[in-house]
Amino acid sequence: MLKPLVLSALIALSAGPALSQDWDALDDDQIAEVTGSITTDLYHEMGHALIDIMDLPVLGNEEDAADIMSVFLINSLWENEPAEQVMRASLATWESIAESRGEGDPDWWDVHGPDKKRIATMACLFYGADPDARGQFAADLEIPEDRASSCPEEYSQIDESWGQFFQQLVDAGPGKSIVWEEPEVEDPLTDAIRDEVEYFNSILTLPATLVVRVAPCGQANAFYDPSDVSITICSESAQQVIDRL
Ligand SMILES: [Zn+2]
Repeated sequence: MLKPLVLSALIALSAGPALSQDWDALDDDQIAEVTGSITTDLYHEMGHALIDIMDLPVLGNEEDAADIMSVFLINSLWENEPAEQVMRASLATWESIAESRGEGDPDWWDVHGPDKKRIATMACLFYGADPDARGQFAADLEIPEDRASSCPEEYSQIDESWGQFFQQLVDAGPGKSIVWEEPEVEDPLTDAIRDEVEYFNSILTLPATLVVRVAPCGQANAFYDPSDVSITICSESAQQVIDRL
């Protein structure tokens, strides 16, 4: 059994005092940026969930595998434009948080890789999944040419390894294997995550029931808990991104 795995130790470390989330002050683009940024947390946790539920082999660090799975899922499930918006929002937020923590030695003992390495890997894979359509993305993310040239091959390895497991879920057809837990308070984040759950259910079925919720945790974070097969997106995560806007 896996220990509960945490995506965003970096976010937890930099979480400030709890603030009420002021969605009313945001325009539609800003709301999309906040929800899109946190949506990638859901996909990362979905990676942990699939590894656990499907008993998938992880030939390496599971955190790296979950990062890779999040890019694979976003690329596989979304049209190019919204996929790119979500990846841009997420990586920009992450970069901003990493910057605000300052340079200095990464925590080499953290189960997660250093932030900027994770960002670079995810940017490369996302670009490599569709290099013809994502040249501007690569330019904006400043992927160096010598790395960019290997990104398509890097992504195709991912596609071959994860793709076959993902296809099993799609072959099972639409279903109700992912259960959305109604939040106490609805807001644009809960709406966005609920929409993701509905979308997942409309195209695939997991071999076990997975609960997804957005709930207060006392910090900005997200985690998969194998003890009750659930993903929790902490509602505090929204304020973390709003603060960056
Ligand atoms: Zn993780």
